[in-house]
Amino acid sequence: MLDAERLADFPLRVPRGFAERMRKGDPDDPLFLQVWPRGAEALAVEGFGLDAVGDMAKLKPGGIVHKYQHRVLVMTTGACGVHCRYCFRRHFPYSEALAARDHWREALAQIAADTSITEVILSGGDPLSLSDDKLGEFIDGLDRIAHVRRLRLHTRQIVVLPERVDDGLVERLADTRLDTVIVLHANHANELDAKVADACARLRQIGVTLLNQAVLLRRVNDRVDALKALSERLFECGVLPYYLHLLDRVDGAAHFEVDEDTARGLMRELASELPGYLMPRLARETAGDAAKQVLA
Ligand SMILES: *Cc1c(COP(=O)(O)O)cnc(C)c1O
Ligand code: SF4
Repeated sequence: MLDAERLADFPLRVPRGFAERMRKGDPDDPLFLQVWPRGAEALAVEGFGLDAVGDMAKLKPGGIVHKYQHRVLVMTTGACGVHCRYCFRRHFPYSEALAARDHWREALAQIAADTSITEVILSGGDPLSLSDDKLGEFIDGLDRIAHVRRLRLHTRQIVVLPERVDDGLVERLADTRLDTVIVLHANHANELDAKVADACARLRQIGVTLLNQAVLLRRVNDRVDALKALSERLFECGVLPYYLHLLDRVDGAAHFEVDEDTARGLMRELASELPGYLMPRLARETAGDAAKQVLA
Protein backbone atom coordinates (compact mmCIF):
# COMPACT_ATOMS: atom_id res chain seq x y z
CA MET A 1 0.00 0.00 0.00
CA LEU A 2 1.25 3.47 -0.76
CA ASP A 3 1.47 5.81 2.15
CA ALA A 4 -0.64 8.71 0.92
CA GLU A 5 1.02 11.29 3.09
CA ARG A 6 4.49 10.26 2.01
CA LEU A 7 3.52 10.41 -1.63
CA ALA A 8 1.92 13.81 -1.15
CA ASP A 9 5.24 15.08 0.24
CA PHE A 10 7.16 13.87 -2.78
CA PRO A 11 4.75 13.22 -5.67
CA LEU A 12 5.56 11.64 -9.01
CA ARG A 13 7.34 14.18 -11.17
CA VAL A 14 9.03 13.46 -14.48
CA PRO A 15 9.53 15.66 -17.56
CA ARG A 16 8.03 14.30 -20.76
CA GLY A 17 11.38 14.23 -22.56
CA PHE A 18 12.84 11.99 -19.86
CA ALA A 19 9.82 9.66 -19.94
CA GLU A 20 10.27 9.35 -23.71
CA ARG A 21 13.69 7.80 -23.13
CA MET A 22 12.09 4.88 -21.27
CA ARG A 23 11.31 1.55 -22.94
CA LYS A 24 7.54 1.52 -23.31
CA GLY A 25 5.67 -0.98 -21.18
CA ASP A 26 8.79 -2.30 -19.45
CA PRO A 27 8.40 -2.19 -15.64
CA ASP A 28 12.14 -2.94 -15.32
CA ASP A 29 13.21 0.02 -17.40
CA PRO A 30 16.11 1.66 -15.52
CA LEU A 31 14.73 5.18 -15.99
CA PHE A 32 11.20 4.23 -15.01
CA LEU A 33 12.44 2.55 -11.83
CA GLN A 34 14.09 5.80 -10.72
CA VAL A 35 10.93 7.87 -10.81
CA TRP A 36 7.93 5.59 -10.30
CA PRO A 37 6.59 5.61 -6.71
CA ARG A 38 6.37 2.14 -5.19
CA GLY A 39 4.68 0.64 -2.18
CA ALA A 40 8.08 -0.27 -0.73
CA GLU A 41 8.69 3.42 -0.02
CA ALA A 42 6.28 3.21 2.91
CA LEU A 43 8.31 0.53 4.70
CA ALA A 44 10.17 1.54 7.81
CA VAL A 45 13.61 -0.10 7.58
CA GLU A 46 16.13 -0.31 10.39
CA GLY A 47 19.08 1.99 9.78
CA PHE A 48 17.19 4.29 7.42
CA GLY A 49 16.13 7.71 8.66
CA LEU A 50 15.08 11.21 7.74
CA ASP A 51 18.46 12.93 7.60
CA ALA A 52 20.92 10.27 6.49
CA VAL A 53 23.85 12.59 5.92
CA GLY A 54 23.44 15.02 8.79
CA ASP A 55 22.77 18.00 6.52
CA MET A 56 19.95 19.38 8.59
CA ALA A 57 22.23 19.73 11.59
CA LYS A 58 24.81 21.54 9.45
CA LEU A 59 22.47 23.93 7.70
CA LYS A 60 23.27 27.56 8.45
CA PRO A 61 21.27 30.69 7.75
CA GLY A 62 21.26 31.50 4.06
CA GLY A 63 20.82 27.83 3.15
CA ILE A 64 24.55 27.17 3.52
CA VAL A 65 26.10 23.80 4.37
CA HIS A 66 29.78 24.21 5.20
CA LYS A 67 30.93 20.68 5.87
CA TYR A 68 34.27 20.57 4.05
CA GLN A 69 37.17 22.99 3.98
CA HIS A 70 37.42 25.62 1.24
CA ARG A 71 34.12 24.74 -0.40
CA VAL A 72 30.69 25.61 0.68
CA LEU A 73 27.40 24.25 -0.54
CA VAL A 74 24.45 26.57 -1.00
CA MET A 75 20.91 25.20 -1.11
CA THR A 76 19.43 27.43 -3.73
CA THR A 77 15.92 26.08 -4.09
CA GLY A 78 13.80 23.13 -3.08
CA ALA A 79 12.53 22.58 -6.59
CA CYS A 80 13.69 19.82 -8.96
CA GLY A 81 12.69 18.99 -12.51
CA VAL A 82 12.30 15.36 -11.56
CA HIS A 83 11.56 13.51 -8.35
CA CYS A 84 14.04 10.68 -7.91
CA ARG A 85 12.59 8.14 -5.53
CA TYR A 86 15.94 7.39 -3.89
CA CYS A 87 16.74 11.02 -3.15
CA PHE A 88 18.11 11.84 0.28
CA ARG A 89 16.59 15.29 -0.01
CA ARG A 90 13.04 14.00 -0.19
CA HIS A 91 12.53 14.78 3.48
CA PHE A 92 14.49 17.99 3.55
CA PRO A 93 12.59 20.88 5.15
CA TYR A 94 13.22 23.30 2.30
CA SER A 95 10.39 25.58 3.08
CA GLU A 96 11.88 26.30 6.49
CA ALA A 97 15.47 26.51 5.31
CA LEU A 98 14.78 28.71 2.33
CA ALA A 99 11.80 30.64 3.55
CA ALA A 100 13.65 33.87 4.18
CA ARG A 101 13.23 36.13 1.15
CA ASP A 102 16.76 37.44 1.45
CA HIS A 103 18.46 34.08 1.91
CA TRP A 104 20.64 34.78 -1.13
CA ARG A 105 21.98 37.94 0.38
CA GLU A 106 22.63 36.16 3.65
CA ALA A 107 24.52 33.38 1.83
CA LEU A 108 26.66 35.91 -0.06
CA ALA A 109 27.42 37.81 3.13
CA GLN A 110 28.63 34.64 4.82
CA ILE A 111 30.80 33.64 1.87
CA ALA A 112 32.28 37.16 1.69
CA ALA A 113 33.12 37.03 5.38
CA ASP A 114 35.07 33.75 5.17
CA THR A 115 38.25 34.07 3.09
CA SER A 116 38.97 30.34 3.38
CA ILE A 117 36.17 29.66 0.86
CA THR A 118 37.49 29.28 -2.69
CA GLU A 119 34.68 27.23 -4.24
CA VAL A 120 30.94 27.71 -4.04
CA ILE A 121 28.68 24.82 -4.92
CA LEU A 122 25.12 25.58 -5.90
CA SER A 123 22.91 22.66 -5.03
CA GLY A 124 19.32 22.22 -4.02
CA GLY A 125 16.96 20.93 -5.08
CA ASP A 126 18.26 21.83 -8.48
CA PRO A 127 19.94 25.22 -9.02
CA LEU A 128 18.96 25.14 -12.69
CA SER A 129 15.30 25.17 -11.74
CA LEU A 130 15.95 28.83 -10.92
CA SER A 131 15.44 31.45 -13.61
CA ASP A 132 18.49 32.82 -15.43
CA ASP A 133 17.91 36.18 -13.71
CA LYS A 134 17.84 34.72 -10.24
CA LEU A 135 20.86 32.54 -10.91
CA GLY A 136 22.67 35.43 -12.62
CA GLU A 137 22.09 37.68 -9.64
CA PHE A 138 23.78 35.20 -7.35
CA ILE A 139 26.69 34.55 -9.73
CA ASP A 140 27.20 38.33 -10.03
CA GLY A 141 27.45 38.43 -6.27
CA LEU A 142 30.04 35.67 -6.22
CA ASP A 143 32.03 37.34 -9.01
CA ARG A 144 32.53 40.29 -6.68
CA ILE A 145 33.99 38.21 -3.84
CA ALA A 146 37.72 38.09 -4.60
CA HIS A 147 38.58 34.91 -2.70
CA VAL A 148 36.00 32.81 -4.60
CA ARG A 149 37.68 31.15 -7.59
CA ARG A 150 35.41 28.35 -8.66
CA LEU A 151 31.69 28.01 -9.20
CA ARG A 152 30.21 24.54 -9.16
CA LEU A 153 26.66 23.54 -10.00
CA HIS A 154 25.22 20.21 -8.94
CA THR A 155 22.33 19.66 -11.30
CA ARG A 156 20.21 16.89 -12.78
CA GLN A 157 18.36 19.37 -14.97
CA ILE A 158 20.74 19.10 -17.94
CA VAL A 159 20.04 15.37 -18.08
CA VAL A 160 16.30 15.39 -17.48
CA LEU A 161 15.53 18.68 -19.25
CA PRO A 162 18.37 19.49 -21.69
CA GLU A 163 16.37 22.34 -23.23
CA ARG A 164 17.23 24.22 -20.02
CA VAL A 165 20.63 24.84 -21.61
CA ASP A 166 19.38 27.71 -23.77
CA ASP A 167 21.04 30.89 -25.06
CA GLY A 168 20.25 32.79 -21.88
CA LEU A 169 21.89 30.27 -19.58
CA VAL A 170 24.91 29.77 -21.84
CA GLU A 171 25.46 33.53 -22.06
CA ARG A 172 25.14 33.87 -18.31
CA LEU A 173 27.66 31.12 -17.59
CA ALA A 174 30.08 32.42 -20.24
CA ASP A 175 30.04 35.77 -18.48
CA THR A 176 31.48 34.91 -15.08
CA ARG A 177 35.17 35.28 -14.21
CA LEU A 178 34.89 32.10 -12.10
CA ASP A 179 36.13 28.75 -13.35
CA THR A 180 32.92 26.81 -13.75
CA VAL A 181 32.33 23.14 -13.10
CA ILE A 182 29.01 21.45 -13.66
CA VAL A 183 28.43 18.10 -12.02
CA LEU A 184 25.61 16.30 -13.81
CA HIS A 185 23.64 13.47 -12.35
CA ALA A 186 22.96 10.53 -14.69
CA ASN A 187 22.67 6.96 -13.46
CA HIS A 188 22.22 5.09 -16.72
CA ALA A 189 23.48 5.48 -20.29
CA ASN A 190 19.89 5.55 -21.60
CA GLU A 191 19.42 8.94 -19.90
CA LEU A 192 22.00 10.49 -22.22
CA ASP A 193 20.27 10.98 -25.56
CA ALA A 194 21.29 13.26 -28.43
CA LYS A 195 19.67 16.33 -26.85
CA VAL A 196 21.66 15.86 -23.67
CA ALA A 197 24.81 15.42 -25.74
CA ASP A 198 24.07 18.71 -27.56
CA ALA A 199 23.50 20.54 -24.28
CA CYS A 200 26.82 19.24 -22.97
CA ALA A 201 28.60 20.31 -26.16
CA ARG A 202 27.31 23.87 -25.77
CA LEU A 203 28.59 24.03 -22.20
CA ARG A 204 31.98 22.67 -23.18
CA GLN A 205 32.26 25.30 -25.90
CA ILE A 206 32.24 28.02 -23.26
CA GLY A 207 34.88 26.21 -21.23
CA VAL A 208 32.73 24.60 -18.56
CA THR A 209 34.23 21.44 -17.04
CA LEU A 210 31.66 18.63 -17.00
CA LEU A 211 31.63 15.82 -14.45
CA ASN A 212 28.98 13.30 -13.44
CA GLN A 213 27.83 11.87 -10.19
CA ALA A 214 25.69 8.75 -10.12
CA VAL A 215 24.08 6.76 -7.37
CA LEU A 216 24.51 3.00 -7.30
CA LEU A 217 20.92 1.73 -7.43
CA ARG A 218 19.58 -1.80 -7.27
CA ARG A 219 18.05 -2.94 -10.59
CA VAL A 220 18.94 0.40 -12.22
CA ASN A 221 22.72 0.27 -12.65
CA ASP A 222 24.09 -2.45 -10.34
CA ARG A 223 25.75 -4.42 -13.14
CA VAL A 224 29.19 -4.04 -14.66
CA ASP A 225 27.81 -3.71 -18.19
CA ALA A 226 25.46 -0.88 -17.15
CA LEU A 227 28.21 1.02 -15.31
CA LYS A 228 30.61 0.55 -18.19
CA ALA A 229 28.05 1.80 -20.71
CA LEU A 230 27.36 4.81 -18.49
CA SER A 231 31.03 5.83 -18.30
CA GLU A 232 31.52 5.38 -22.04
CA ARG A 233 28.40 7.30 -22.96
CA LEU A 234 29.35 10.10 -20.57
CA PHE A 235 32.72 10.38 -22.26
CA GLU A 236 31.03 10.61 -25.68
CA CYS A 237 29.12 13.57 -24.26
CA GLY A 238 32.32 15.20 -23.01
CA VAL A 239 31.67 14.35 -19.37
CA LEU A 240 34.01 12.54 -16.98
CA PRO A 241 32.66 10.25 -14.24
CA TYR A 242 33.31 11.73 -10.80
CA TYR A 243 31.46 9.96 -7.99
CA LEU A 244 29.46 6.77 -7.79
CA HIS A 245 27.60 7.19 -4.51
CA LEU A 246 26.43 4.46 -2.26
CA LEU A 247 22.82 5.16 -1.44
CA ASP A 248 22.20 7.51 1.44
CA ARG A 249 20.16 5.56 3.96
CA VAL A 250 17.06 7.67 3.82
CA ASP A 251 13.55 6.53 4.71
CA GLY A 252 11.66 5.15 1.74
CA ALA A 253 14.73 4.26 -0.35
CA ALA A 254 15.84 0.94 1.16
CA HIS A 255 14.70 -1.07 -1.86
CA PHE A 256 17.35 0.70 -3.95
CA GLU A 257 20.28 -0.21 -1.73
CA VAL A 258 23.32 -2.13 -2.99
CA ASP A 259 25.51 -3.35 -0.14
CA GLU A 260 29.10 -2.22 0.20
CA ASP A 261 30.73 -5.58 -0.60
CA THR A 262 28.73 -5.93 -3.80
CA ALA A 263 29.66 -2.36 -4.71
CA ARG A 264 33.37 -3.00 -4.17
CA GLY A 265 33.13 -6.15 -6.28
CA LEU A 266 31.47 -4.21 -9.10
CA MET A 267 34.22 -1.59 -8.95
CA ARG A 268 36.94 -4.24 -9.20
CA GLU A 269 35.34 -5.76 -12.28
CA LEU A 270 34.67 -2.35 -13.79
CA ALA A 271 38.34 -1.41 -13.37
CA SER A 272 39.30 -4.36 -15.56
CA GLU A 273 36.95 -3.09 -18.29
CA LEU A 274 37.67 0.64 -18.40
CA PRO A 275 40.59 3.03 -18.64
CA GLY A 276 41.36 4.65 -15.30
CA TYR A 277 40.02 8.02 -16.38
CA LEU A 278 36.55 6.54 -16.90
CA MET A 279 36.39 5.08 -13.39
CA PRO A 280 34.14 6.94 -10.95
CA ARG A 281 35.12 7.05 -7.28
CA LEU A 282 32.90 4.90 -5.10
CA ALA A 283 31.91 7.20 -2.27
CA ARG A 284 29.81 7.30 0.81
CA GLU A 285 28.51 10.40 2.53
CA THR A 286 29.06 10.22 6.26
CA ALA A 287 28.26 12.69 8.97
CA GLY A 288 31.24 14.34 10.61
CA ASP A 289 34.13 13.41 8.27
CA ALA A 290 36.49 15.95 6.69
CA ALA A 291 35.67 14.67 3.19
CA LYS A 292 33.43 12.22 1.47
CA GLN A 293 34.59 8.73 2.25
CA VAL A 294 36.07 7.17 -0.91
CA LEU A 295 35.88 3.36 -0.79
CA ALA A 296 37.27 2.43 -4.20
C1 LIG B 1 29.67 16.54 -1.57
C2 LIG B 1 29.74 17.80 -0.86
C3 LIG B 1 30.70 18.76 -1.19
C4 LIG B 1 31.69 18.58 -2.31
O1 LIG B 1 32.59 17.57 -2.05
P1 LIG B 1 33.69 17.23 -3.16
O2 LIG B 1 34.41 16.05 -2.63
O3 LIG B 1 34.53 18.45 -3.31
O4 LIG B 1 32.95 16.94 -4.42
C5 LIG B 1 30.75 19.93 -0.47
N1 LIG B 1 29.91 20.16 0.56
C6 LIG B 1 28.97 19.25 0.91
C7 LIG B 1 28.08 19.56 2.05
C8 LIG B 1 28.85 18.05 0.21
O5 LIG B 1 27.93 17.17 0.58
S1 SF4 C 1 17.17 15.89 -9.06
FE1 SF4 C 1 18.67 15.52 -7.43
S2 SF4 C 1 17.89 16.66 -5.65
FE2 SF4 C 1 16.19 16.47 -7.12
S3 SF4 C 1 15.08 14.61 -6.54
FE3 SF4 C 1 16.58 13.98 -8.07
S4 SF4 C 1 18.39 13.36 -6.90
FE4 SF4 C 1 17.07 14.57 -5.54
